Amino acid sequence: MAKSDYYGTLGVRRDASAEEIKKAYRRLARELHPDVNPDPETQERFKEITQAYEVLSDSNKRQMYDMGADPFASGAGAGAGGFGAGFPFSDIMDAFFGAAGGGGRGPRSRARRGRNATIRVELDLSESAFGTTRELVVDTAVLCEVCTGSGAAAGTHPDTCDMCHGRGEVSQVTRSFLGQVMTSRPCPQCGGFGSIIRNPCQECSGDGRVRTRRTIKVRIPAGVEDGTHIQLAGEGEIGPGGGPPGDLFLEIVERPHEIFERRGDDLHCTVQIPMTAASLGTILTMETLDGPEELDIRPGTQSGQTIPLYSRGIQHLNESGRGDLLIHVNIETPSRLDAAQEELMRELARLRGEERPPGKFAPGQQSFFSRLRDAFNGR
Ligand SMILES: [Zn+2]
Ligand SMILES: [Zn+2]
Repeated sequence: MAKSDYYGTLGVRRDASAEEIKKAYRRLARELHPDVNPDPETQERFKEITQAYEVLSDSNKRQMYDMGADPFASGAGAGAGGFGAGFPFSDIMDAFFGAAGGGGRGPRSRARRGRNATIRVELDLSESAFGTTRELVVDTAVLCEVCTGSGAAAGTHPDTCDMCHGRGEVSQVTRSFLGQVMTSRPCPQCGGFGSIIRNPCQECSGDGRVRTRRTIKVRIPAGVEDGTHIQLAGEGEIGPGGGPPGDLFLEIVERPHEIFERRGDDLHCTVQIPMTAASLGTILTMETLDGPEELDIRPGTQSGQTIPLYSRGIQHLNESGRGDLLIHVNIETPSRLDAAQEELMRELARLRGEERPPGKFAPGQQSFFSRLRDAFNGR
């Protein structure tokens, strides 16, 4: 068998250092590995580079090779093709998954981001309207001060896992009709961390954090409403292993108001006005979120009319301006009249010619049937 050009195969100079050879092999192996690229030609190349690496990574074999011998061509050890029984896989794994960490593989960190937390905050309407400041008591996880998040007891360190040698994963090579297939899975002994905490911190049982109750002061802006979520970045619980904290969300729950109904940033309410006051006009003292206010009821105010008090609603969230307060008027028809009142009413009706008034439709309130008729007549 002709002597192979192992340096050329790996693309390194003859005086390349062991580290350079390892790097070159690792780079090529990533491209040519049968898991990545199963076509036969690539597999053949993979065998070649692996063979080259097997020789050049072993100082004795490299020396022999440099002096003119070829450990594979000699027929000793592995048979033709070289890649097979007796192959020192551990070295190849080492090169392929090497600890230097290129390619993003390797043990996973114990530190993970903490979870988000949500707490409900009940507000009454005026708090939503104008904003408020609340002190909230939160049950949360904070960094364990004893181990500062490492999870290891004071004065100890996590040991490197002896099953995966700190890599966090274990690899297995199996033969298939495509050739050698290498599969890796998280190390079952260390759970993929690459290290094992033999003496967990007593304070946090190795979690790196402890539960506690803390009080935080939050500013709730004007204009929030039922269901609004306010995000407080980094105020959630800290992550395991000293990982960064999650976020805290405040979910606003708005208590219903006994007088005002909120629709968007407007408020609605209904006032009852006696018929006489609606007819003659009056001044009504109204309770608003800004305190008592005088409401001018014009003479001849009709039932169902809406009187606006501009800018007496809810502050717009993150914008200037406020919604309105809309007052719906309900006119009370006098009932249970005494004799004198009834006499006055009859007199009024007579003076207005309303003793037997004709029923008529209010403008704009056509019945369904008249609309249907208009549609048929093409009006
Ligand atoms: Zn601890
Ligand atoms: Zn392990």
